[in-house]
Amino acid sequence: MDKKFDLNRLNVKAFAREGLSLQGQQSLAQFVRLAELAAARFDAPIEDASEPDQVSWLIQGELVPVIAGESQIWLHLSAEIDLLLQCQRCMGSVKLAVEANASFRFVADEASAEAEDDESEEDLLVLMPEMNIFELIEDELIMSVPLVPMHETCPTEVPMSAVDVAFEEALEAKPNPFAALAQLKKKPN
Ligand SMILES: [Zn+2]
Repeated sequence: MDKKFDLNRLNVKAFAREGLSLQGQQSLAQFVRLAELAAARFDAPIEDASEPDQVSWLIQGELVPVIAGESQIWLHLSAEIDLLLQCQRCMGSVKLAVEANASFRFVADEASAEAEDDESEEDLLVLMPEMNIFELIEDELIMSVPLVPMHETCPTEVPMSAVDVAFEEALEAKPNPFAALAQLKKKPN
């Protein structure tokens, strides 16, 4: 990786001014929160844990000229990983592609961010001399992890248990989550 631009402490302004882009791969182990999220959802045997999980990422800086005033500083980011999650239907392991795409506009300070946030649908961040872009990538990936991961087709025939039905109903329909919850408590696994 370019020594001048370290994603752990990136000078976003300089990066954007030069209109640079960088891409790479990083072990999932370095994204502790994301790795824990995958692990925490997981209590079934892991079939293919030997494969090293890699986060592929790409960032691009951009300086957007403004008619009156200073140019806007932008950072575009995309990242993906095949994350091992627990299928909520058969409870087995399922590897799902988790993808994140985001663009951030950087503003001078917190006050500007707050002032502009109301009228802007853009993602605003306060510009700092050095920013940890890996954290940004991790945040975006975490937000992209499906809430209810599932196989498209489960590898084994699993009769849908009352627990699953109650769980899915509570999630999807939400007519009476408390009733569904009571059912969950009642039914043995
Ligand atoms: Zn499944």
